[in-house]
Amino acid sequence: MKATESFLKERFALFNEMIFGGRLPDIPLVISDAASYLGMFCYRTRTHLFGKKTHYDLKIRISSRLDLPESEIEDTLIHEMIHYWILHNNIRDTSRHGKVFRSMMSDINGRYGRHITVSHRATKEQREAALDKRPRQRVLAILLFRDGREGVKLLPCIPARVKAYDRALRRSGKIADIEYYTVSDPWFNRFPTSSAFNVIITDINEVRRHISSSGN
Ligand SMILES: [Zn+2]
Repeated sequence: MKATESFLKERFALFNEMIFGGRLPDIPLVISDAASYLGMFCYRTRTHLFGKKTHYDLKIRISSRLDLPESEIEDTLIHEMIHYWILHNNIRDTSRHGKVFRSMMSDINGRYGRHITVSHRATKEQREAALDKRPRQRVLAILLFRDGREGVKLLPCIPARVKAYDRALRRSGKIADIEYYTVSDPWFNRFPTSSAFNVIITDINEVRRHISSSGN
């Protein structure tokens, strides 16, 4: 499932009662489209005269980018609620996921059969799954540099742009050869498309495998 605001609200209330004794005040639960993290507890800090600090603008962000098992969204929410609990109670921890965080986490995992971890980040597989899967036709340039390095560049299917790119690169004197292919395999969506005169250095063998699978 994908996280929704109403699901988060309902679960926040449930876990607050169940795990945190109902002592966490409501805060905004914001759905984001982030591909790099699953959840994040955010706040801002104001430092007053004599160093006293207050925190404001507290919120929990949960990414709805990925289709995840319900329990994983819940674990992510509880993880962020632990951060919230620590801040709300002015508890000093040894680091962001320090001793206090970890002991609360393993206590909750044990008591409620959860699988909360210290990671906020989506795994490599999850980030892959979040990539745009729509086939888009683009021009792939494979560049061979005089110094032996190889790189790729994805260009929009606009002949004038491809020509301009080709001219600029050859003029640089650093290029030994450029091959062009039309590709539509969604695998290429991981690369940005632009007409800027840059190049992405990457594993060309893997790129070539995807050229053939797009039937060019
Ligand atoms: Zn965390």
